[in-house]
Amino acid sequence: DLVPVRRALLSVSDKTSLIEFGKALSGFGIEILSTGGTYKALKDAGVAVKEVAEHTGFPEMMDGRVKTLHPTIHGGILALRDEAEHKAAMEKHNIPPIDLVVVNLYPFAATVAKGADFPTCIENIDIGGPAMIRSAAKNHGFVNVVVDVADYAKIVEALKANNGATPLGLRRELAAKAYAHTGAYDSMIATWFARQNGESFPPTLLVSAERKQTLRYGENPHQQAAFYVTGDKRPGVATAQQLQGKELSYNNLNDTDAAFELVSEFSDKPTIAIIKHANPCGVAMADSLSAAWDAALRCDSTSAFGGIVAMNRKLDKATAEKIGAIFTEVIVAPEVDEDARAFLAAKKNLRLLVTGGMADPVASGWFVKSVAGGYLVQTRDAGRIVESDLKVVTKRAPTQQELADMLFAFRVGKHVKSNTIVYAKNGATVGIGAGQMSRVDSARIAYRKAQDAAKAAGLSETLTRGSAAASDAFFPFADGLEVLVEAGATAVIQPGGSIRDQEVIDAADKAGLAMVFTGMRHFRH
Ligand code: 5GP
Repeated sequence: DLVPVRRALLSVSDKTSLIEFGKALSGFGIEILSTGGTYKALKDAGVAVKEVAEHTGFPEMMDGRVKTLHPTIHGGILALRDEAEHKAAMEKHNIPPIDLVVVNLYPFAATVAKGADFPTCIENIDIGGPAMIRSAAKNHGFVNVVVDVADYAKIVEALKANNGATPLGLRRELAAKAYAHTGAYDSMIATWFARQNGESFPPTLLVSAERKQTLRYGENPHQQAAFYVTGDKRPGVATAQQLQGKELSYNNLNDTDAAFELVSEFSDKPTIAIIKHANPCGVAMADSLSAAWDAALRCDSTSAFGGIVAMNRKLDKATAEKIGAIFTEVIVAPEVDEDARAFLAAKKNLRLLVTGGMADPVASGWFVKSVAGGYLVQTRDAGRIVESDLKVVTKRAPTQQELADMLFAFRVGKHVKSNTIVYAKNGATVGIGAGQMSRVDSARIAYRKAQDAAKAAGLSETLTRGSAAASDAFFPFADGLEVLVEAGATAVIQPGGSIRDQEVIDAADKAGLAMVFTGMRHFRH
């Protein structure tokens, strides 16, 4: 299964490492063919190279739209070397075989990202490149295809190890990568095109994402799993750098994402979120990270064990020491200072991730979920309620502190599985009810957990007394609100919109509560 490489075609937009690679190929006595820009770069560097136009006897034309789309090129790539008819055709039409195709495509994504106009984006759709990649991958029995600069070294190593030839295993590996690459490239174009046509989603779901890593297992040990990344370079779980600790698991990645996205909602003050099973068990903002940790932990110190901790400020040593005092699976922070780093280094199992910045809570994006026989796709929940969106519906208007706590609780609630009830006081959650089938149960559970937390902290009063409570969706009946009253909440924030809103407002007025409607729901299932 070893096939010698005698002729290569190099046509690359990204010319990183091109010269070194070209020189290495020449060193093996390989003839190099190249398109205009690549030819020039190689020639200027003194690498022996022949222009594709000279090879085919046909000039590049139409602004480069047609460069390599020629039977001499595609015949040279696609011909089966051991098929008499193919060999006869090569001889008859004077088509030399091409054994190695090295292509990276016109930078379509980068062109779009730069905000280029429609015609410029269209011109950056590569045609000849994908055609050559697909031809070479199809004929992997004889031909090597390279689409990634990172694979140059693999080719050189193989040539070295096999006396100028490459093994079938490598060619097949490269072929799979090649089709993934052209598929992702086209899916990017399709998505962009649909958007130009005023549609949010393309006619077929082509998610362009590359496999970053195969995970040890999925949500459970008997499930297989892998992590795919879109290439989006913004701060987040896909781009974070892991400084220490064991490999991240499927659940770690899911929870770390939830934690980091939640804490990214807050920028005014140092904020910490502790996550368990993708739900927060404590979130708090304070004047220092360490104070935020204390308050976040107080909400539910029992559940915080084995949690994922995210923050929106550089992790300092004082905070690291406090977090380190309980068993924590993952810490994710925009930055970590040296002292904190040194302190955490001793905790070998703790996974420490640095993102370099915070996520943009209002960024656009897709949320994909699978169902039997299909996928549900929606834009991500970038909804964000600010004070001016609120409508006071009760006789009593909220105080400034209540207002601040309501907005905080509602924003946290956006990241809690429905049905969601969040009680908050002084910038910290004091009770979180998540994932119940009834809103009343979520309200009760959050209250009961707050009572437990008060007991654990030796407090005489449950922290929900005097708190603001947020509900992710409207109260269909007054019974849910009555639980909030019982828990001692004095202010309530909820979307409103139930046909029984008036009953709920009356119950709030009766208890002297201040209540506001947001007009926006934050279901999260
Ligand atoms: P160069 O810088 O060498 O002039 O051009 C390299 C780029 O041209 C590569 O990205 C390659 O994929 C692309 N390319 C090669 N052949 C063709 C072709 O026939 N048509 C188009 N549109 N692009 C091509």
